[in-house]
Amino acid sequence: MAATDFLAQPKAELHVHLRGAIPPEFLGALLRKYPPQEALANAPGRHRRLFAGQANIRAALAGHYEENAFFRYDSFDGFLATYLFTSYFVRSIEDFRGLIAAVRRQFCRENIVYAEVTVSVIEYVNQGIPLEALLEALSEEPETPPRVRWIVDLVRNIGPEAAESLLDRILERRPRNLAAVTLGGAEHLFPPAPFERVFAKARGAGLRLTVHAGEALGPESVWDALRILKVDRIGHGVRAVEDPALVAHLAAQRIPLEVCPTSNIRTGIYRSYGEHPARRLFEAGVPLTVSTDDPTFFRVTLSRELSALTALGFSPDEIEGIAANGFRFAFAPPPATPQCGKATPAIRPC
Ligand SMILES: [Zn+2]
Repeated sequence: MAATDFLAQPKAELHVHLRGAIPPEFLGALLRKYPPQEALANAPGRHRRLFAGQANIRAALAGHYEENAFFRYDSFDGFLATYLFTSYFVRSIEDFRGLIAAVRRQFCRENIVYAEVTVSVIEYVNQGIPLEALLEALSEEPETPPRVRWIVDLVRNIGPEAAESLLDRILERRPRNLAAVTLGGAEHLFPPAPFERVFAKARGAGLRLTVHAGEALGPESVWDALRILKVDRIGHGVRAVEDPALVAHLAAQRIPLEVCPTSNIRTGIYRSYGEHPARRLFEAGVPLTVSTDDPTFFRVTLSRELSALTALGFSPDEIEGIAANGFRFAFAPPPATPQCGKATPAIRPC
């Protein structure tokens, strides 16, 4: 099926990172707003060296930002460096609000009427934006779709103690549209188990739970996410396929996976769509949803991701079912009028 087959259809997306969805033209506006020397003034030397090693970033630093060229890199390191680089340009609460508005408009263009967006608030705090202001911005929502609910990434790399104190601060000023927490970051360095107390606290506060697991690490990480963190969904989770008992458990308990096939290929978990295990998981009865993860950085859209399922061996009816799972396994109800606004105004510099 072609991506255009899905474009007009109202869709829900459950695993997409806010900055990973930054529209390239919005990043261009930020790069014009902030001279790189100013934005990178406090960047540590290791970041500067990382940036200097990437041709796309060197071009942007020299004032030659070109949307199509910037998000092209031939290695995972290139992706990581580019992702990190963009974090230096969301520097004020106005930028943050502008980013949210730009991503919402992008959802509209894709007819995504409901999205659960993962936001790593700590990244923006690191750029000097007060946490309280960020949380206030997460409470704001226009009346028209897309409906956005937030999943705060407690960022496993800061460790369980810092994650818990971050959660405490978030709960003190809990954003109205906060639905859940997750853990992103380096799964192989910071596996799920030590975050048991943080997740128990989030659950006790009425938040839903998901976690990136079974992406860099294998089935044991997914087992820990289920048994210790007691999550409702698994972010990625695809490497569960390596343990038949785990696959049977996910199917029996109806625990959905947030599958992002193009992301898995771009980050090197699998070499091709043909190698991707989504079909095997589906045939074993595991509920699947499909998302883009970091659509701008992986040059994918939700419509294209759905159409790519054809290459994984899914029939049109099965793909429709997986698209519908985006609503079925959401943490909040879809908007009453599942229709995006028609107007998609040009993105203004913030
Ligand atoms: Zn992710």
